[in-house]
Amino acid sequence: MLLSLIALSLCLASVPAAAQRLPSTVTPLRYSLWFAPDLERETFRGRESIDGTLAAPSTSITLHAAEITFGEATIEDGGGSQPARVSLDATAETATLTVARAIARGPATIRLTYTGILNDKLRGFYLSKANGRKYAVSQMEATDARRAFPSFDEPAYKATFAITLMIDAADNAISNGRQVSDSPGPEPGKHTIVFAPTPKMSTYLVALLVGDFVCRSGAAGATPIRICATPDKQGLTAFALSAAEHQVAFFNRYFGIPYPYEKLDIIGVPDFAAGAMENAGAITFREQVLLADEATASVEVRKLVASVISHELAHQWFGNLVTMKWWDDIWLNEGFATWAANKPLAAWKPEWKMDVKAAAETQIALNLDALRTTRAIHTQVETSAQINEVFDPIAYEKTAGVLGMIEAYVGPEAFRKGVSSYLAKYALGNAAGEDFWTEVTRVAEKPVNRIMKSFVDQPGAPVLSVQTRCIGGNTEVSLRQERLVGAPGPATAAAAQTWTLPVCVKTASGSATCTMVTAREQTIRAPGCGAAMVNADARGYYYTEYEPAAVAALAARRPPLTPAERLSLLGDEWRMVRSGRHDVGTYLDLAAAFARDETPSVVAEMAGRLGEVGGDIASASQREAWHTWVRATFRPALDAIGLTGGLGDSDDTNSRRGTLLKLLSGDAEVQTHARDLALAYMARPASLSPTLVAPVLQVAAAGGDAALYDQFVARMTASSAAPEEYYRYFNALASFRDPALIARTQQFAVSPDVRSQDAGMLLTQLLSSSATQESTWALVKTEWPAIVARLGTFQGVPAIVYGLGAFCSAERAAEIKTFFDAHPVPESARLLQQSLERIATCTAVKARQAPAFGRWLQAR
Ligand SMILES: [Zn+2]
Repeated sequence: MLLSLIALSLCLASVPAAAQRLPSTVTPLRYSLWFAPDLERETFRGRESIDGTLAAPSTSITLHAAEITFGEATIEDGGGSQPARVSLDATAETATLTVARAIARGPATIRLTYTGILNDKLRGFYLSKANGRKYAVSQMEATDARRAFPSFDEPAYKATFAITLMIDAADNAISNGRQVSDSPGPEPGKHTIVFAPTPKMSTYLVALLVGDFVCRSGAAGATPIRICATPDKQGLTAFALSAAEHQVAFFNRYFGIPYPYEKLDIIGVPDFAAGAMENAGAITFREQVLLADEATASVEVRKLVASVISHELAHQWFGNLVTMKWWDDIWLNEGFATWAANKPLAAWKPEWKMDVKAAAETQIALNLDALRTTRAIHTQVETSAQINEVFDPIAYEKTAGVLGMIEAYVGPEAFRKGVSSYLAKYALGNAAGEDFWTEVTRVAEKPVNRIMKSFVDQPGAPVLSVQTRCIGGNTEVSLRQERLVGAPGPATAAAAQTWTLPVCVKTASGSATCTMVTAREQTIRAPGCGAAMVNADARGYYYTEYEPAAVAALAARRPPLTPAERLSLLGDEWRMVRSGRHDVGTYLDLAAAFARDETPSVVAEMAGRLGEVGGDIASASQREAWHTWVRATFRPALDAIGLTGGLGDSDDTNSRRGTLLKLLSGDAEVQTHARDLALAYMARPASLSPTLVAPVLQVAAAGGDAALYDQFVARMTASSAAPEEYYRYFNALASFRDPALIARTQQFAVSPDVRSQDAGMLLTQLLSSSATQESTWALVKTEWPAIVARLGTFQGVPAIVYGLGAFCSAERAAEIKTFFDAHPVPESARLLQQSLERIATCTAVKARQAPAFGRWLQAR
């Protein structure tokens, strides 16, 4: 699954551990599932048989079921068939079937009829609406298959699934298997579609889609591929198809195992909580990350679409073919898919520079991992709430960063062989994290297991404090490691943690040399002298702390650092500011040295941090001097490429131009210019490069009036069939600064005019800016019961809890804590702790850095 449009994590629940694990008496082997959705009444009927085996005689069988109303229930074994009495446990989400005569050890068949609801909560078998009609679609991961069919809903219970759907005559259906028959009836006005049984797989990978989907067909080798969407978006499927065709062919070669299913469908769903879901052979997507017209899509959307498809395709092998035994190893699924997603794209579109993207993804994890309230990659989970919680940047980006570090250490081919060997060994089965690293260790013949254990079992990450000396043409690098806790203040006991990790050093005149670091203090030797980068190619998952003079030397180094290294250095230096180890001036001087950097994500990284300096560290009386410095430092970079540019400019140039326009949006000339460009774009879309549209609309909105707002709303409403265009305006609404317009956006965010999948995203944006956060928080408090009911605690509410972490005042932190004490959200308990820590860190940073910032500004 890919959750994050906004980086999300979820919760820590107080439900008794193990409350929801099933007894291990029954092993399911084969499900036969028949569904008859009633779109009009928003319900469905189900008929099910489960063939399995009992390990011991028993008079009862317990399986998962939630919001299911049971009809007939029988259990058949060698002694014949007998009716079962059904008792439900709503808290544990289970049903227990009890029979009079003990079921014998060995084979047995459970037969059930039942009804369920097509809910509006975007989980299980649920309802989606578009174009004046209803769709029945599904999202089973992590623990919602039980809402669609009673089942042994744990990943280790792999079985085959033979699925049949009886649907309205005019509708079509998609499921995991290839369609084997389509016949009229048997009920009037219906037809029945039978799908081929799946290979063995987990319940969370079942997919059911009913509606009027239209598909574009292609293939990769023997695998037929279709990209499907609602009819109005039929024209937006070609780019996704070409990406999928390329990527399936790539992964077939990379894994050395052919794509494991008979066909591949990828479907855009109008209402979808996550980003996308890797259901075996029937991948579902939020429309925004699948449906794009290559000719008019920004480079950001093209990259997003291709990389989410790639992530979900990697799961077909890693996750679907071989599945974690239990959800405590979800990091293995998600971290691997995050890491692997970049592989085919690097081959397909080298100009996208996937090494820089990987370095940017690692930054997301390193930021979270500097919190005391972070978690270890491997975390025990038992309840549904706890399971949903661990789909966070630790599972995704941290694991991907650690895997990338190990790949760099053992070499790409040895790593690939280890992965392929692991997949072959556990194909169609389940494995734990240790099984993965044992296999890579064996194949690569290097102590990968020691590195993995050190990073998987311990929370946080090491900061390497670096001192270098040039001796006889070599560099002696003295390293000291401890856990980085990213707030000013005394060291904690956690700082005593140490890690086993490969550290690669690249001096100005030498090539990279790598050493395994195991001790708290260790000295390593690298060939050559000159400023030494102690995270060569940014492939290591750790923080570096250089002397301030060494930071300046690295910025000025010739040959220069690579783009990924510059990104990593900027990230690390910002965390030195956040942790109080360095004065903010060291960071700002580094940013000035990189002001004309040509790599868009390097500029974007700086722009985000400069926003925090202006918003959280600069006082009201310092703002003007601050903006003067930002203008003087970055306006020449924008002038050098031009405010508008030609339509023939490269994607990188336009992407960088967009970031610089936003960074300089306080500049009156930039503001006027953006407004002119926005008006011209609305009159004639071809007048503006697609990559510039979103930033131009946002900058125009920041100075925009009610007339412009009305135009944006009209354009947004008219763009329902073009997701990228819709979200350009949708996101820009959060940038208007006129108080009356802020209020309109806030009311819009909690109105039924916004899909529940999008409301959390908009509220998070409003909570993230100091201009809109106070009034948005007031609204959230007032509207809380309605917000919880509409957005749900699975996706929307966590987005709000995350957004609240952008406050920077002890008073607000106390108020937020009090509010959630009174209105607890078990699914977001850890996330709330992390947001409160982010606020506390921000207030401590403000106190620590304000005097240093004043001195630095004075000296400019
Ligand atoms: Zn995933």
